[in-house]
Amino acid sequence: MRTLRQLAGLLILLPLPALAWNAAGHAAVAAIATPLLTPQASAQVRALLAGDLDRHGQPSGRTQLTEIASWPDEIRDEAVKTDPAAFRGWHVRANPVCADTLGACPDGHCVDQLIIRQAAILADRTQPLRARNEALKWVVHLVGDLHMPLHSGVNANGGGVRVELAGYRRPERLSLHEAWDGPLLEHALAGWERQPRPAARLPLTPDAPTHWMLETRALALSAVYQPLPGFSCDARLASPIRLDEAYREASVAVIRQQIERAGLRLAALLNERLR
Ligand SMILES: [Zn+2]
Repeated sequence: MRTLRQLAGLLILLPLPALAWNAAGHAAVAAIATPLLTPQASAQVRALLAGDLDRHGQPSGRTQLTEIASWPDEIRDEAVKTDPAAFRGWHVRANPVCADTLGACPDGHCVDQLIIRQAAILADRTQPLRARNEALKWVVHLVGDLHMPLHSGVNANGGGVRVELAGYRRPERLSLHEAWDGPLLEHALAGWERQPRPAARLPLTPDAPTHWMLETRALALSAVYQPLPGFSCDARLASPIRLDEAYREASVAVIRQQIERAGLRLAALLNERLR
């Protein structure tokens, strides 16, 4: 199996999808979860991916969680060509970082509720194979997304404030959300010598993903927004905001912690649902 560094190095060559924790981040989460799966869960993953289809409905040849981890981004990128609103809001929940209220979740289409629903489909052996195959791909992807702070908490700007990041090629196009999805994530993955951890035994109540999301929202406040110059709970931030080197270096530990949490929790969820 490839190391995380090799995997990240390979995947960073892929183009960055807009507003999505990039493919290297999702692959890193899946790479942490894979060796922690029980033999039963591994066997079911193999069976569910045996006839996997790509974004065009063609056989994908993909057999590993690391390879399918970005499929929901791939099908969205395809769908928005004909419907710009396709899957909008499915990978996030815009919970306000300074309030106890939850963000909207129209028709159950938001990150925590979709994980809960798709995990139930995954566990249900009476469901068609294709439905369980797609449920697996949604769960693997969305557990990663949920742990990205800006996918679970936003301020009055909605993550959209423009930022300038030292060394980034196209600062005119970079939002705070995109900075965390792309360049800050890549910086955190580079050179990460992760120590493998044993599988976690977690209390997995059915609403566990909502608790993970609220923990991530708290991190969005403390690690993403509060360090920004001029941040206050009541104010919209004015663009552009310069993210200095201290901000970038502080993000490394946050991102690595979140990828690790996501990987351990993904393994626990799959082991529990694929017994
Ligand atoms: Zn996503």
